Amino acid sequence: MRKLVILGGGTAGTIMANRLNAALGHDEWQITVVDKYKTHYYQPGFLFIPFGIYSPQDVMKPKRDFIPSLEMIHDSGGEIYACRAAMDMFHYTKDDLWDGVDDILTVGDFYQKSAGAQIIFT
Ligand SMILES: Cc1cc2nc3c(=O)[nH]c(=O)nc-3n(C[C@H](O)[C@H](O)[C@H](O)COP(=O)(O)OP(=O)(O)OC[C@H]3O[C@@H](n4cnc5c(N)ncnc54)[C@H](O)[C@@H]3O)c2cc1C
Repeated sequence: MRKLVILGGGTAGTIMANRLNAALGHDEWQITVVDKYKTHYYQPGFLFIPFGIYSPQDVMKPKRDFIPSLEMIHDSGGEIYACRAAMDMFHYTKDDLWDGVDDILTVGDFYQKSAGAQIIFT
């Protein structure tokens, strides 16, 4: 696995991450974006704040929203599972899922797999 690190997840870094993620083979490349802030500031929007066209909230978004994170979790060796109950509720099959999803788990399967781990969100 070859590793590519992008320093700065601003405008240029985000565009590079998305372009390279689409262009490079997922099995061959792991892309990591490093930034010291979690929030993306849409700088051109700053000009409109004094005129009341944008509020500060309009120009601030979580950087994570613009990064192809599912692929990044998958490509860096993380496992991604779908929830059996949610799949049944929406009548989804495995064909409806993104190819990177490892498996479909019941709640019981999930607790078995995560035995000994700290569960942050289910
Ligand atoms: C008021 C204003 C109006 C603008 N209007 C326009 C416009 O109309 N059209 C246009 O094309 N451009 C405009 N720009 C310019 C445009 O916003 C910038 O050119 C563009 O954001 C630069 O992208 P960048 O990725 O190089 O830098 P940034 O988007 O600033 O990203 C740099 C990233 O690096 C991170 N970083 C920096 N130092 C470190 C560190 N030591 N460790 C970890 N992370 C770090 C920062 O947190 C940031 O996320 C405007 C800018 C401003 C301020």
